[in-house]
Amino acid sequence: MSFDNVTSLVSIKTHVPSGPKYWRSLDQLANTPQFREFVEREFPTEASSMFDGNGLDGNSRRTVLKMMAASFGLAGLTACRRPIEHIFPNSKGVENYSPGEKYLYSTVTSLAGQVAGLVVETHDGRPTKIEGNPLHPNSLGAATALAQASLLNLYDPDRSWKVLQGGNESSWEKFEAFAKSLNLGDGTGLRFLSESVVSPSLMALRAATLKKFPKAKWVEYESFQRTEGRVGATLAFGEPVTPQTHFDKAKVILGLDSDFLGLDWQTPLPTKQYSSGRRIAAEEDLEKMNRLYAVESQFSMTGANADHRLRMRGSAVKQFAIDVATALGAIPGLNVVNNGAADRRAKFLAAVVKDLKAAGKDALVITSPRQPAIVHALALLMNQVLGSLGNTIEVVKVSVEERVESGVDALKALAGEMSGGQVSTLVMLGGNPAYTAPADLQFAGNLAKIATSIHLGYDPNETAAVSKWHLPEAHYLESWGDAVAGVVASIQQPMIEPIFGGRTASELVALISGNKDVKAHDIVKNYWLSQWPEKSAAGKAGEPAREQLWRKSLHDGIVNPGTAQSGAKLTADAKKIAAAVAAEPKPVAGGIEIGFVPSSQMWDGRYANNGWMQECPDPMTKLVWGNAALVSGATAAKIKAGDGQMIAISRGGMKIQAAVLIQPGHADDSITIALGYGRTHCGRVGKDVGFDAGPLRTTDAMWYASGVEVTPTGERYVHSTTQERGLAEHLQERPVFREVNVAEYKSNPKAIEEMSEIPALHSVYPEISYTQGNQWGMAIDLGTCTGCNACVVACQAENNTPVVGKEQVIKGREMHWIRMDRYYVGSEDEPRAVEQPLPCMQCENAPCENVCPVAATTHSPEGLNDMVYNRCVGTRYCSNNCPFKVRHFNFLNFHKNDPDIHSMVHNPDVTVRMRGVMEKCTYCVQRIQETKITAKVDGRREIKDGEIKTACQQTCPADAIVFGNINDPESRVSKLKKQERNYAMLAELDIRPRTTYLARLRNPNPELEA
Ligand code: SF4
Repeated sequence: MSFDNVTSLVSIKTHVPSGPKYWRSLDQLANTPQFREFVEREFPTEASSMFDGNGLDGNSRRTVLKMMAASFGLAGLTACRRPIEHIFPNSKGVENYSPGEKYLYSTVTSLAGQVAGLVVETHDGRPTKIEGNPLHPNSLGAATALAQASLLNLYDPDRSWKVLQGGNESSWEKFEAFAKSLNLGDGTGLRFLSESVVSPSLMALRAATLKKFPKAKWVEYESFQRTEGRVGATLAFGEPVTPQTHFDKAKVILGLDSDFLGLDWQTPLPTKQYSSGRRIAAEEDLEKMNRLYAVESQFSMTGANADHRLRMRGSAVKQFAIDVATALGAIPGLNVVNNGAADRRAKFLAAVVKDLKAAGKDALVITSPRQPAIVHALALLMNQVLGSLGNTIEVVKVSVEERVESGVDALKALAGEMSGGQVSTLVMLGGNPAYTAPADLQFAGNLAKIATSIHLGYDPNETAAVSKWHLPEAHYLESWGDAVAGVVASIQQPMIEPIFGGRTASELVALISGNKDVKAHDIVKNYWLSQWPEKSAAGKAGEPAREQLWRKSLHDGIVNPGTAQSGAKLTADAKKIAAAVAAEPKPVAGGIEIGFVPSSQMWDGRYANNGWMQECPDPMTKLVWGNAALVSGATAAKIKAGDGQMIAISRGGMKIQAAVLIQPGHADDSITIALGYGRTHCGRVGKDVGFDAGPLRTTDAMWYASGVEVTPTGERYVHSTTQERGLAEHLQERPVFREVNVAEYKSNPKAIEEMSEIPALHSVYPEISYTQGNQWGMAIDLGTCTGCNACVVACQAENNTPVVGKEQVIKGREMHWIRMDRYYVGSEDEPRAVEQPLPCMQCENAPCENVCPVAATTHSPEGLNDMVYNRCVGTRYCSNNCPFKVRHFNFLNFHKNDPDIHSMVHNPDVTVRMRGVMEKCTYCVQRIQETKITAKVDGRREIKDGEIKTACQQTCPADAIVFGNINDPESRVSKLKKQERNYAMLAELDIRPRTTYLARLRNPNPELEA
């Protein structure tokens, strides 16, 4: 090594003084002593302790040496960490089945009425991985974090596994006998309560059942229902319609409290469409980039992706919508109101209106299921005035089958009947109304009064506890069903027999109604066969046409490909909407407001027992294993409670307690709390985790409630958050996240590159040539990534990554191979937020490799930074030397106490690591190897571009991750890396990461940017 090189290394310019400051937490922004200590340590205080509470000091060099000696000793003693147990082959094989090979099946799932097509990977009859179905219009090959995590629910040992009668064990036979003995007559007193029904065969069964029992009623209720949208559309058009948005066609989008990139939609479609308007493949795309404005209370993922964001209380959004509609000329005669924060609000409003008008038919105004019906009507009217109705948004008429009593009003009516003794038999098809129903309905108390209450449920939850009968429900991966999205239907086919003997909603309805088909398969298949003509074009000679179509539908995952639903030609009634606006109650000024949102992890509580979701950091708060009362800094000062301090929140005689977390950018005088926590009747994982805000939610305040009283209790609570993970001294002032405005980029395409200065660098090690064969690399587009976490869960599922629990996360021992870093930019009150996925960078000059004393981490000829697990002795030198802190150490045998059934979720192509080894992203090396073997079997030498997809890439709804051979100049990844936006993080350290980023381009309105 020459001294010249040392000089050049010393002169590295580490930061750009003029660039924006990115910060992850308020401690970092204030540069508190605690934060200084944190970054100097690089790891959380207890992360370095080898063991808990046994007196061993993790900082002691002697302890490390003792442990290493013990490791070597054990290695010599046993030469293997696993006990030897003999297995014997089964001499009989299953036809058309090769043990060890993976098989893919199409199926479909739904959440809160939103349908997603899936492809499920199975190994030896076990579903092990969920992907999106590329043929399904709502999925287009991607899957959300929740959809992927639903796999773990299948193997939940705390699932409902026995029929209960009055809390005592019973059987399906006894229930069948009971059901037959029910004398339901004309259905008087018979009520069905289900979640949103999207199954055509169940809709048909429902119609037949209600025909047989004409006095019976069927109510649909979801904790997060889109009823307000339907009511608003009916107000606008005089009949119920479903809006269909085309974000890909929109140039200017105004989101009125809309979190379309996060909680409002549970399919990948909006992200797919929106991100296509942010993707820059060629220069002309710069002109086409969309612009997003967000108006909201809590900092949502949509707000984080917005070019401009205006924070206001949720209840104030209605007036803002009225003002925008008025300024657009949609409702003449009303005055634009400037209430509070006039300058910023008025400026924002004027700029938005001008931009929307300029975009015309390419504009899109969208709101949220949390906003009242009038805001939905106004949004539709604004789109009509702009000319975008029919272009960026269409409305589709709701079919007769879908028109049932639904939503909170329908549930209220049902609760009234229950209370009044008009319900004798209540059949609950899934869900957990005793936990999710508004508190004022006292659903659990009313349920206990009913003579015959039957609950079909996935777990023995709060509703099961007060029902006379509880029946285990089958998971969607173990049952037949179907679902329709628009006009595209899919068959839900099982991959595994019901593990705990569960049955489906359709089977229960068929049993109670005496339907001729009682098996889910027959109900679904006979329904679809009845829909198809005897002969179809798909039919082959000698094979019944409908049977052929059935098989094709199962194979493809969609029944009717290519069917496009055309929007209805309807006109919104401006006069009617103006009259409704005038009749709207005025928002309550002053006081503190509480807002309720679904949890990004628990949804409405149904994922409470899912360890993957409990430990998947919330995209914005970075909280795991719990929720919090989110407030702005100003509100925290007003209520005299800061981070981790407990407060009592009371409203209308009800009171809850929750711990405060200051959320930069949150609206003032407002508290947001995610629902779905504080479960009392669920499995071991989710019981009593977080705070249940449900008692404050009532029928008149499902989303926002004003006039709450807040009192600090004086107690403290420890939040488990990952927001400062990976922050190290050397990352503080370096441009690890890069973004520029489109205008700046157009005038200076080198703007990204110029953010860091890279001197001539020379490695002290001999240069290795990576110019031969496949050389794997990755590019992550920060311009399209929305921070949705789908890649985090995909990686966990694919690579058997363990769940470590709240206490271990607090100690900094979470194991995710992709860390989602969220940074804020700007002030605490008005920050922007950005997200950056951070897997192992697969550095060519990997700092981790040089320090490993046993060469457990080495480089492969194809450029992968490999981990040899059975060589690792756990010194963790590599982690200390990793500048990105993306290596994760198994401090404990995290899989050891997993229930046996959990091992069924493991991917057999990947090891299940034991205690004492370092692990990290491998670019899904198992997928690389599998494809290479397939290519070899096919007699090919070359692997096609796109043939290998890493798990994170495959699931990403934004197509933000591209993996491939960087030695192939025509590969997608090579082309992306040639873009001026491409940059390597910490390139000035000469580590040569194989994973690089495409800088984010923002598209701000110059009028607001000034
Ligand atoms: S990269 Fe990950 S977080 Fe970003 S959009 Fe894709 S899946 Fe979501």
